[in-house]
Amino acid sequence: MIIIMGTHASDEQIGGVVTKLDAMGMGANVSRGIERTVIGAIGDERTIDKELLKVLPGVENVIRVMKPYKIVSRESQASDSIIDIKGIKLGGKEVQVIAGPCSVETQAQMDTAAEAVVVAGCRLMRGGAFKPRTSPYSFQGLGEQGLEFFQNAARRHDLPIVTELMDVRQLDIFLKHDVDVIQIGTRNMQNFDLLKEVGRVHKPVVLKRGMSATIKEWLMAAEYIAAGGNHDIIFCERGVRSFETYYRNMLDVTAIPVLKKETHLPVIVDPSHAGGKAWMVPQLSRAALAAGADGLLVEMHPTPCEAWCDAEQALSPEELNGLMGELRGIAQVIGRSL
Ligand code: PEP
Ligand code: MN
Repeated sequence: MIIIMGTHASDEQIGGVVTKLDAMGMGANVSRGIERTVIGAIGDERTIDKELLKVLPGVENVIRVMKPYKIVSRESQASDSIIDIKGIKLGGKEVQVIAGPCSVETQAQMDTAAEAVVVAGCRLMRGGAFKPRTSPYSFQGLGEQGLEFFQNAARRHDLPIVTELMDVRQLDIFLKHDVDVIQIGTRNMQNFDLLKEVGRVHKPVVLKRGMSATIKEWLMAAEYIAAGGNHDIIFCERGVRSFETYYRNMLDVTAIPVLKKETHLPVIVDPSHAGGKAWMVPQLSRAALAAGADGLLVEMHPTPCEAWCDAEQALSPEELNGLMGELRGIAQVIGRSL
């Protein structure tokens, strides 16, 4: 059961609900979001009369959510959540394409990439400063200096930045550099301590699907973040492991309508890590948009063949430009804009 408090509910009113739950023999998880505070009742709720909670001051609604994921579930909110990223809306009518290199390499590379992102008409930029690499001998990312290069380039164009957080110890650096959107990568989707920490900050989170995670596990991972009070979560489908070796991962297009049914939160697709080849990106992007994705996360490098990471799957600036043109047509057909 979740108790949704009114927007202006006071601490005293929130405390009142917690006390009442305690008297009923129930525990409480208070999740203070920016827009709403949601109190999760913990324990056997079958005997609880929800009307007794509904009448308490400050309570807006009491919902018995049957699913194990509560705050993120569609049952808890019928309307789509629209996430505001420095005035850019993700999850509404407008589709957002987040583009940029796999990893931050040099200031010049980021300056050129930021320019290309803007020229193509994208409103957000991606780039990794802390890289989860399969080999310890591969380039691991520039770390904090990468965030500096990234912000120097992005701020010139007012581009909000999306970048991966791998470890709780990096969180202060992320806050210091005012990272706009925190990305949790596929390898960390079930790093519960990391999810809990990210749940305590008020920064939108792109939560990538674990490469072998079920949709339910993915939703539960998002619930970890939401339970801490951070309700600005964006699901990102990036392909799952399969028996096929022709491409890097299998893009699970089916996950898009399933998530749209199960959660009110936005869903984006990363066609780059799915296909693993630049030439596949346009088709996968079209499929994603047509299936109802709210946006895309696309790798683009000023000179793809020189990229320090994921060179094969990076679009060139010209290719990104061409893709945006194609996608505008699709967006229009499905009643959206780009
Ligand atoms: C990335 O976006 O650069 C990345 C490492 O993605 P994933 O976690 O999906 O592999
Ligand atoms: Mn990559």
